Order: sequence, then C-alpha cells, then structure tokens
Amino acid sequence: MRNLSFLFYLLLVCGVPQLASASGRRAPDPAEPALRPGMVPVPVKDFAKQYGFTQVKVENDRILLKGRLHELELEKYSRRAILNGAMLWLNDPMVIHNRLWVVSETDVNLSFKPLIVPTEVLQGRGHQVVVLDAGHGGADSGAVSPAGLQEKAVVLDITRRVRSELISRGYRVFLTRHDDSFLELDERTRRARNWKADVFVSIHANSGNASARGTETFVLALPGHRSTNQSSPSAVPTDTFPGNAYNQANMNLGFSLHHSLVTKANLNDRGVRRARFAVLKDAPCPAALVEVGFLSHPDEGLNLARPAHRVRLAHSIANGIDLYLRAVKKAAMNAQVQANERGGS
Ligand SMILES: [Zn+2]
Repeated sequence: MRNLSFLFYLLLVCGVPQLASASGRRAPDPAEPALRPGMVPVPVKDFAKQYGFTQVKVENDRILLKGRLHELELEKYSRRAILNGAMLWLNDPMVIHNRLWVVSETDVNLSFKPLIVPTEVLQGRGHQVVVLDAGHGGADSGAVSPAGLQEKAVVLDITRRVRSELISRGYRVFLTRHDDSFLELDERTRRARNWKADVFVSIHANSGNASARGTETFVLALPGHRSTNQSSPSAVPTDTFPGNAYNQANMNLGFSLHHSLVTKANLNDRGVRRARFAVLKDAPCPAALVEVGFLSHPDEGLNLARPAHRVRLAHSIANGIDLYLRAVKKAAMNAQVQANERGGS
C-alpha cells in the first residue's frame, strides 16, 4: 500500500456491492455474462497495480485507469476499451467474477501489455524494411464511392505517399504493387517474405451502409478467439497461422497506426479489431491492415477524392509505422543495455 489513493481505488475496484444476497451467496444477475469457458480472469485492480496505473476511478458504466504515461478506459460488460484516446476491441468483455471486475489474461498479455510496456515485447524484431500493400488492383476494384471513385486507385495513391514519407525518414520501403495490376493475396505476403520485411501494412478503404464512417485497423485474430466482428462465440477457429508468431508486435503496430489515424487525421474511431484476413494470416512479420475511411459514405467518399485528405492519411500512416519501428529500436537498445549490465556484473 503506497498511499491513500491506492487504498481508495482498492475500495472502489474491489468492492462490487449489492451482488451478495443475505445468505452470503452471490445474487443472480441475469444481465451479467458468465466467463467464457477457458478464460483466465485477472482482477482489474491487479492489472492496474502491475502496469503502473496509480489512479483508478469507477464512473457509472466504466472504470478509468490513469498512470504516468497511459490512460485506459474500460467499459463494464463490454469488449470496448480506450487507451490514450484511441479505441481497441478486447477479446473478452470486462465482467464481474467473484465480486471483482476482471479482464481476461489473454487481453492483459496480448492486448494491453504490447501497448503499455512495448520494450518488453518488441525485442528481436526488425526495424528497417517496410512493405506497403495497396489493396486490390486490376479487375478487382474494391469498394466504389457513389461518385464512382475506386478503392484500388485511392489506396495506391495513399500508399505511394506513405512510401515517400518513410523513405525520407530513412527506411527501406517496398510496394507489393506500383501500378494498377492484379495481385493474388498470397503473392503479396510472398513478396514481403522475399524482401525480408520487418513490417507489413495493407492499406484499404471501406464500404458499408450509407451511415457507416470512420477508420478501423485490423490485426490477426488469436487462435481459439473470435474475430471482433464475429457476434457468436461458437465455432471459433483454433488454427495458428504464421502471422500469430507476432501477436504482441501485431498489436503494437496496429494500435500505433490506429492511434495516429484517429488523432492526427481526426477520423471517427471504429477501433483496432481482430480478423483472419489472408494477408494477416500469412504475413512473414508483424502486420496490420488499415481501413482509411468509407468510400460508401457521402462525405468520406468525397473526402477520399481530395489530395489534401490523402496527404493527411498518408502522413498519419507513415507516422504510425515510424512510431512502431522506433519502439522496436528502443526495445533493441534496452536489450543491449541489459546485456552489457549483465556482462559487467
Ligand atoms: Zn479493400
């Protein structure tokens, strides 16, 4: 117990009053979902303490955690979380277990840890070669705006702009396609493997109903866990794909991109999500897929035609990739310092 505020938050977070009946047994709450079978619960208070969140507040339907570097907002009975102003979707909702608010151990290790202590999880990753993948191409136009603007052209233009920015920041950059040619999905990841990619980012524009808008970023779903958009927890694939070798780095990369897009390009935040897209499954390195906006939305469709908006998007994507690669470099330097200390002792 370091101070009074810690005691205060223990009281707030540990105690979930009115859930015990007079007999001492927990009162049934029909609204309270059960733990997912196999889910290992981690009390939020333990997670907060371990990861340096010194202030914890419970406010209506959410719990707010604040530390020196990070602010995290968790929503009760929800998979939605907001870290430093950008949204990510958890594998499991925060629920009550044994009268405590809990998150899953999977989310602690594979959603939060890569973002809160990146230097611990990014050691050994490369930080020089970037492969950018403009989605679709050739006969595959991708999404089309009401005015006829095609996704394949929009994303190629944005991808080229990202490339220039990253080259000017000193990285080696390859594009899976430079022109309007068709490329099979497996050819995209094969090229990335041949170029010895350190990071792979696929760039797309979205399509949905007329009101759907905003940006979302995908990383590979975890084996045995549903993808974010899968509503039913039944029939969850258990396969492990090559891209699952980078689960923690995937999350850091995806969130860096997404945070940059949401905060720098000022886009509606649809969160970091998990999916089993082919280019993520077969990626030979940490990978993410960004959806920069909805071509199908009347305003966003128009916006995506504007060079100034594309420049902003490209700048945000380049920034997100740079942020990730700098975190990898920092992790490598930390590892070196630790090795020197061990050698010197
Ligand atoms: Zn697409």
